[in-house]
Amino acid sequence: MRRQGQPFRPSEREDERTRMVDQQLRARGISDQAVLEAMRKVPRHRFVPDHLQQYAYADEPLPIGEGQTISQPYVVALMLEALEVRPGDRVLEVGTGSGYVAALLECMGCEVYTVERVPDLATRAAWRLRELGYHRVEVRCGDGTRGWAEKAPFDAILVSAAAPAVPPSLVAQLRAGGRLVIPVGDRGLQELVRLRKSAQGETSREYLGAVSFVPLVGAEGWPEPSP
Ligand code: SAH
Repeated sequence: MRRQGQPFRPSEREDERTRMVDQQLRARGISDQAVLEAMRKVPRHRFVPDHLQQYAYADEPLPIGEGQTISQPYVVALMLEALEVRPGDRVLEVGTGSGYVAALLECMGCEVYTVERVPDLATRAAWRLRELGYHRVEVRCGDGTRGWAEKAPFDAILVSAAAPAVPPSLVAQLRAGGRLVIPVGDRGLQELVRLRKSAQGETSREYLGAVSFVPLVGAEGWPEPSP
């Protein structure tokens, strides 16, 4: 089945999205209406490779090439809920991957800046987002552990890969009152952390549960894997 290049109809696989939202998200305690609504609207299957179309709305992460994955829908929802974004927020995402999370953030009314380290993934995500009409997302290829200084400060920063520690550059690029959501831990298992910056610039952390992400590789993340 060839879907790329075809215009998107909002009704395309809508029943599966409704089922995903009810059974995987709402039933497990996701209650933020903006998150649920965005996940009901954004066509996740358009961000999943052709040969995995039948699993696009399954309760699991899926490979997207280059050894990377699109996260499980529930984990995506948990992170978006933790981010507490409002329409008009400037948001940085580190780890564009397929572009799915960036599309959800735009659907929630945000101005989105997203950085991906793997050139081929960045190119494909930018192309896919344009094709689907997400025009308030800017994609850049580079090391997102350093943030995106020219576009800072951000109201919220979402890191979609696992870091050994919170990158200081990201904390520096968060505006007062901002939130940073990031998996922190070892290469196998991490704790989802929400860091808040107060009006006075002080930071505090909350721990939101165990997750498992691909590694954040870069200057303020894990070292490059040896060839
Ligand atoms: N949010 C994505 C899933 C991301 S998977 C989606 O919706 O599909 C994590 C991604 O982080 C991978 O694509 C990986 O290449 C990328 N990544 C890892 N280290 C990075 C870094 N330092 N800067 C930017 N992207 C990075």
